[in-house]
Amino acid sequence: MIALTEIEKRFGDTRVLQGVSLAVPEGRVTALIGPSGSGKSTLLRCVNLLEIPQAGRLEIGEERLDFRPEARPSRREILAIRRQTGMVFQNFQLFPHRTVAQNVMEGLVTVQRWPEAKARVRAMELLDKVGLAHKAADWPSSLSGGQQQRVAIARALAPSPRVLLCDEPTSALDPQLAGEVVAVLAALAREGMTMLMATHDLRLARSMAHQVAFLEGGTIVEHGTPESLFGQPADPRTRRFVATLI
Ligand code: ATP
Ligand code: MG
Repeated sequence: MIALTEIEKRFGDTRVLQGVSLAVPEGRVTALIGPSGSGKSTLLRCVNLLEIPQAGRLEIGEERLDFRPEARPSRREILAIRRQTGMVFQNFQLFPHRTVAQNVMEGLVTVQRWPEAKARVRAMELLDKVGLAHKAADWPSSLSGGQQQRVAIARALAPSPRVLLCDEPTSALDPQLAGEVVAVLAALAREGMTMLMATHDLRLARSMAHQVAFLEGGTIVEHGTPESLFGQPADPRTRRFVATLI
């Protein structure tokens, strides 16, 4: 189980997340939806500690971290949590001066200290899985956006994370390329990969998610199955938002 409890995140005086509690069941896909600025990216970034919350608790598998305003978690604690997470960004964020294979190997070699040869075998397995083994020696800039995002997914999966965090993984892509990425994510979901995904893509949320959480103004207004949240939203704020999507 991955659990967020009463998470609070402020930037200066601006409170961006407050009292956010969410259980992310393992082997399932949880979608985060909500208006622009509602805190979806910030919440994802709090799960892999790119942002450190001021209060609340994060549990991922055996790891557990209690946040306090006065004490930043230690580097060891941060790395322990990060090892459990892989992150896919809207704009891919591949290393431009590394080949496709090197992008996937990078974290294994530099962070996890894997021998190069072993990391290359793992990278090739993952590139094969996302249908890009034949691009291993190419530069990211020679790939389409959809291909770059599939490399980014392979890179995020390289250390075998417990949860894959995806921030709008398809929104920088035109529909056809987005479809390639959705196919890869859907295959991962079928294999039981735990995912927490922020998305504006209603079809993606409906088709893949087992659970949908609606965030507004930094709080989770409502969560439930896609059928209940989209079909019979209980809260008027959810109803209003869902109406804008259709
Ligand atoms: P979008 O749908 O546009 O991606 P979002 O739901 O992902 O929006 P966030 O990016 O999490 O929203 O932003 C939530 C709020 O936090 C916004 O008001 C944003 O301006 C603010 N914010 C995010 N990062 C920072 C930062 N580093 N410093 C100050 N404010 C920030
Ligand atoms: Mg965002």
